[in-house]
Amino acid sequence: MAVDKDQVLAALRAVTSPRGVPLTEARVLSEIAASDGKVFFSINVDAAEARAWEETRGRAEAAVRAIPGVTTVMVALTAERRPGAAPAPQPSHQHSHQHSHGVRPDTQHRPHGAPADSPMGKQVAIPGVGAIIAVASGKGGVGKSTTAINLALGLRDLGLKVGLLDADIYGPSVPRLTGILQKPQLNDARKMVPILRFGIPLMSIGFLVGEETPMVWRGPMVMSAIRQMLWDVAWGVLDVLIVDMPPGTGDAQLTLAQQVPLRGAVIVSTPQDLALIDARRGIAMFSKVNVPTLGIVENMSYFQCPECGTRSDIFGHGGARHEAERLNVPFLGEIPLHMAIRTSSDAGAPVVDSEPNGPHAAIYRAIGEKIKAQLAGATV
Ligand code: ADP
Repeated sequence: MAVDKDQVLAALRAVTSPRGVPLTEARVLSEIAASDGKVFFSINVDAAEARAWEETRGRAEAAVRAIPGVTTVMVALTAERRPGAAPAPQPSHQHSHQHSHGVRPDTQHRPHGAPADSPMGKQVAIPGVGAIIAVASGKGGVGKSTTAINLALGLRDLGLKVGLLDADIYGPSVPRLTGILQKPQLNDARKMVPILRFGIPLMSIGFLVGEETPMVWRGPMVMSAIRQMLWDVAWGVLDVLIVDMPPGTGDAQLTLAQQVPLRGAVIVSTPQDLALIDARRGIAMFSKVNVPTLGIVENMSYFQCPECGTRSDIFGHGGARHEAERLNVPFLGEIPLHMAIRTSSDAGAPVVDSEPNGPHAAIYRAIGEKIKAQLAGATV
């Protein structure tokens, strides 16, 4: 049964806000996205008021969930700080970070000593999650998601506790790469429970909306959805959370890079000049918000014939290594263009997991080693 925006608004009209007026009249609602039984919106309030609104957020979510035909509801509470307003006691752009899991203290640190709640963005650590690493690319189709999942699996093989968030809201590919079709459930603390596959917790907007559902994301909705997938998910204790970023270097990516407390970024590029220009933009974007580039990965670096193993440098292999040297960022490794990588990914069984003793798994693990070393403070 299709649920439309008007039904959602009608349900929200019955929810009273802390301002004493119906939620629909409190001038706090974002655009409402309703498609195919899935409803997303955010309640935008001043940071100082955020706590008072948490209960309202819960009631709004319950009211929408009660509409016949609604299968998924995500209501984010986003707090904007007015320019010049006194800082709130807690950077409360999201309700959920106030819940502590009693897990080990946050171990992530800001590069260059930037405070966690710097003017660059309202960054709140995720309790229990150590380093958050973005896997990014200047443009789509270079193998960013394939690299992200295989890298996550490589780090898993190195003994780290790893999670993967598919934040590519424009084209979530983790459902395809993992074969997961089920939806995450909510736990008693009303957090989404990530789906465990290959021994790692996974979360993707694609689990909620389906890979084929076209979603039109407007400005603030992007961050709302991503915030919920970061802070409203029961990640548990993780050494590393890999975030598969949306491709490109536009506003959505910049906001994400600013607001998520990233430890560093891994840039995926193919060797061609054009891709490298985009990769360079990616590095510049992260450096603008003080996120260090942990390194560049050259994907589809050379072609390896599946029949005879012969190697050909069809894309002018080596471009990313030169670029890394030029930009003085680490070069992390070369991944060949190989059928096994494509077919295993597209069959929901990434190569590091399905062929752990093969040559490709070894390459991803070697890249993982370099990242692990950097997390431990070494230079590579
Ligand atoms: P992106 O996330 O950058 O859009 P994907 O990871 O979805 O890219 O990869 C795009 C396509 O290329 C997929 O079909 C994937 O299986 C394939 N692919 C990615 N890396 C490789 C590789 N090294 N060898 C062969 N195919 C690859």
